[in-house]
Amino acid sequence: MKPLSADHGFEAAGVNRMPGFDPDIRRTIVVIDESSRTRSQIVTALAPDHDIVEAKNGLDGIAIVVERQPDLILLDLRLADGDGLELCRSLKSEIRSRRIPVIIVTSADEQALEVQGLQVGAVDFVTHPIDPAILRLRVRNQLALKYYRDALEHISVIDGLTGAANRRQFENILDREWRRAKRLSKPVSLVMFDIDHFKNFNDHYGYLKGDDCLQRLAHLLQAMIHRPGDSAARYGGEEFAIILPETEATGAAIVAERVRQGVELLDIRHETSSIAKHVTISVGVATLVPGAEDLPEILVKLAEERLSEAKTAGRNCTR
Ligand code: GH3
Ligand code: MG
Ligand code: MG
Repeated sequence: MKPLSADHGFEAAGVNRMPGFDPDIRRTIVVIDESSRTRSQIVTALAPDHDIVEAKNGLDGIAIVVERQPDLILLDLRLADGDGLELCRSLKSEIRSRRIPVIIVTSADEQALEVQGLQVGAVDFVTHPIDPAILRLRVRNQLALKYYRDALEHISVIDGLTGAANRRQFENILDREWRRAKRLSKPVSLVMFDIDHFKNFNDHYGYLKGDDCLQRLAHLLQAMIHRPGDSAARYGGEEFAIILPETEATGAAIVAERVRQGVELLDIRHETSSIAKHVTISVGVATLVPGAEDLPEILVKLAEERLSEAKTAGRNCTR
């Protein structure tokens, strides 16, 4: 999961302990305005609480936004180097800026422009002359909304216990990689693994220790999966999956075996396993070049079959 634009705290804290919006945390705000007078009014109003980055024109503005990934943009709609409305529209369509709220700055007599600004995706507006108290409140409202929007997005794709991608995100990524592989006629590999005798583990050590074990496995996965494009997810209870785009069967088998050995090296005690004195996993690997009509489910089904074979073959092995 790529980091959010600011460290709001909920990534490190985990979803279960997500704090509410803290207005005292400094955020980054980009001001795109040609008038140095307006910029300095905005800076005076906001700089005590936030880090303000100024852009004198639209082109600089876009570059700064993409680079700094601010929490908010203040945009004057009357820019000489291009249409401010057009700039707002492109900020809202560009993947690297579309999640960042835009507050437009207009004159009090420019109601039509205000309407158009809101139509192309701005979330609010302030008018000249800048009233510092109103500006601060509107900024605060939009920062809070962005925080909760980011938090919701985070919760919807991240597993609360382990911080790994969740099942929904797994399906999104697999779907995307599957379509890409189809276009390029390239293979996609899927590694699925399941903890051996985990019910016994919970029964013996308790559910909280079981949760610890799942977290340690997820951290191990995150540390081991680092090729760009590869992604790991918690597929279900004690089952994890790794999607390996453009990876042949031999490469996938190497990754799978490395993870299996990595879990053994964690050496998490498991007295009630019939396999070893520590936690082990069984691993299934499948590789396919998707045919035109194939759905990604066939890859999942195949990997699950292999995983089931690994269980039958005695567990703590890769198939
Ligand atoms: P096998 O070797 O065949 O996989 O045996 P198993 O005992 O691991 O398989 P089974 O499917 O019977 O048990 C899965 C266990 O995983 C049961 C359930 O309590 C545990 N589990 C699933 N989700 C969680 C979780 O979030 N936390 C904890 N602590 N345990 C979980
Ligand atoms: Mg299972
Ligand atoms: Mg199991």
